[in-house]
Amino acid sequence: MSDVYAQPTTGPEPATTCELAQYTTLRLGGPAGRVVAGTDADGIVRAVREAAEREEQVLLLAGGSNVVIGDAGFPGTVVLVRSRGLRVVAEDADTVTVRVEAGEPWDDLVATTVANGWSGLECLSGIPGSTGATPIQNVGAYGQEVAETITSVEVHDRVEGTVGSISAADCGFAYRSSIFKYADRWVVLSVDFRLARSPLSGPVRYAELARALGVQVGDQVPLADARATVLRLRAGKGMVLDATDPDTRSVGSFFTNPVLDVAAYELLRERAADIGEPPAWPGAGDVVKISAAWLIDKAGFGKGHLGPQGVAISSKHTLALTNRSGTASTASLVELAREIRDGVHHRFGVTLHPEPILINCTL
Ligand SMILES: Cc1cc2nc3c(=O)[nH]c(=O)nc-3n(C[C@H](O)[C@H](O)[C@H](O)COP(=O)(O)OP(=O)(O)OC[C@H]3O[C@@H](n4cnc5c(N)ncnc54)[C@H](O)[C@@H]3O)c2cc1C
Repeated sequence: MSDVYAQPTTGPEPATTCELAQYTTLRLGGPAGRVVAGTDADGIVRAVREAAEREEQVLLLAGGSNVVIGDAGFPGTVVLVRSRGLRVVAEDADTVTVRVEAGEPWDDLVATTVANGWSGLECLSGIPGSTGATPIQNVGAYGQEVAETITSVEVHDRVEGTVGSISAADCGFAYRSSIFKYADRWVVLSVDFRLARSPLSGPVRYAELARALGVQVGDQVPLADARATVLRLRAGKGMVLDATDPDTRSVGSFFTNPVLDVAAYELLRERAADIGEPPAWPGAGDVVKISAAWLIDKAGFGKGHLGPQGVAISSKHTLALTNRSGTASTASLVELAREIRDGVHHRFGVTLHPEPILINCTL
């Protein structure tokens, strides 16, 4: 077991002013009661326990890339997850299991695995935020999701007051979901991933990625090629953070792709008959996953659609709502989200649900 990777913090440290906007990729969010940083697992647990003893509410915040925080902010203690480090905890001829501290920047981890010839995370390149947040919504992109490689998650259980491990089978992983999402019971301290020792990616599952790589769906490609191509595709959609690009001042996809049963899907097809076939993928069981971006676009909300105070749909991706002006409020972003959700429902009878966690604001 060895420390093979550790690096300095990349997120902002607690500041004298506690406007939470400085900690979120949307650059939105009002003041916090208090902000403290946990720089290792013990420090994170201590900060959470101390706040609980003072009977304050606690908000864990890492990269701030999947939260929409209200303009009134958060009255309790915000604990910034700033732990770092990665070590190999098990290995054999074919696999390596790495334990990664919660605050480790996700994309740095992916880059390290690709450089080491560890296959399994390469298609998740370029996703912002921390490693500890990836189990929360079972982060996924381009045909991969973390549920495929996570073996266990070390947590502080705030109800029992204990620290322990939850196996992947008990994490309730599903599409953009797990037992951790919308639950303040667990604080993720570290995550174990089992990765294949291979210079090649897993079989490419996503048609757009296969096309960009010039291969067939199901082919494998060098890890570095998969990573570079995913990064290029994502950058073209404003899905890699770039301080100079206001299209990336977002939470990525604002809405999840709706999952419909067959009857609801047939109803949608009828309502869309005049404009074409809604893009759909078979889901697990008797369900169909629909493209939220298609629904939004066809309901009349195209790329660049403007909302109040300079919030807007990204000019590169219909699913990303952005604080384009940089001076908007959360209320205006939520107003735009409501307009879109209601417009899609009116046109297609399908309800869109937000992907990020809403804190002190509602849709
Ligand atoms: C440009 C852009 C592109 C994106 N693309 C994708 C994508 O392709 N696929 C995808 O799945 N997501 C995507 N996202 C969403 C986001 O990056 C991921 O969900 C990411 O995992 C969030 O990490 P974070 O550290 O920023 O979490 P935060 O936003 O800080 O927190 C998110 C939630 O997790 C909780 N939390 C954070 N850390 C912990 C912890 N250690 N223990 C317990 N709870 C915790 C927080 O309280 C909050 O409820 C994108 C976001 C942006 C801005």
